[in-house]
Amino acid sequence: MENIKGKVVAVTGASSGIGEAIARHLASLGAKVALGARRIDHLENIAEAIKTTGGEAIYKMLDVTDPNNVADFAAFAVTQFGTIDVWVNNAGLMPLSMINSYKIDEWHRMVDVNIKGVLHGIAAALPVFEAKDNGQFVNITSVGDRWVGPTSTVYSATKFAVRAISDGLRQEVSRNIRVTLVAPGATESELPNTISDPELKKLAIEQFRTNLLPAEAIAKAVAFAIAQPNDVDVNEMVVRPTAQKNL
Ligand code: NDP
Repeated sequence: MENIKGKVVAVTGASSGIGEAIARHLASLGAKVALGARRIDHLENIAEAIKTTGGEAIYKMLDVTDPNNVADFAAFAVTQFGTIDVWVNNAGLMPLSMINSYKIDEWHRMVDVNIKGVLHGIAAALPVFEAKDNGQFVNITSVGDRWVGPTSTVYSATKFAVRAISDGLRQEVSRNIRVTLVAPGATESELPNTISDPELKKLAIEQFRTNLLPAEAIAKAVAFAIAQPNDVDVNEMVVRPTAQKNL
């Protein structure tokens, strides 16, 4: 694929699911990938697997809720690989619940990771992009960035916010910096593990998590957006399983 080989791609939340698939797929296409997440043992295994198949990968512990930690991760990628060309804001969690369950800590957590984590990523990578007047953000939202239903209120609110941030960012940055939003439908990953109510988790899995996309399908969408010529900015992609008709 054009325009991917040799690019430095930093991926947040690369320790499982979609982030892991993005890192593996882009590395297989010749990108140099920097993996960040809290589960360092997972990152180590994924980076080793990438290197075993001839790819280039580095990893560092990352908590996107801490802006200094995110800045350190960006600096690590620049020190090791010389620059950052693409920053993938992927880290996220989805502890679905009804508002009147008052899971206030989970609301805060979603705001901290799903919204503030994205802003911290922008703050860390944008100076690198502006210094060379080139670069690309890929923000992973959800079909919940345009749909809301019972139990998804706060989760969808965080993803609506990232959609707004992505479009505002696109307009504010220079003509040479790209901003891409990828909104996945139901995709294989560890995401349902973040639902703390066991009944709700069971229901969510039964109702929404059949006919799942493989995480590689989202990775391929991300690769498509990066592979376009620099003057082509794929702003939004919504990728659902074909059978997902209800949201
Ligand atoms: P996973 O649970 O498999 O992956 C979530 C990733 O986020 C993990 O790597 C986790 O790593 C990381 N993460 C969580 N909190 C933090 C944190 N504070 N700092 C750094 N990393 C963190 O789920 P998915 O792969 O599905 O989720 C990836 C993205 O895709 C999310 O933004 C999610 O909202 C979105 N999405 C997923 C869909 C799906 O059906 N799977 C559908 C629509 C959107 P660690 O715990 O090691 O820190």
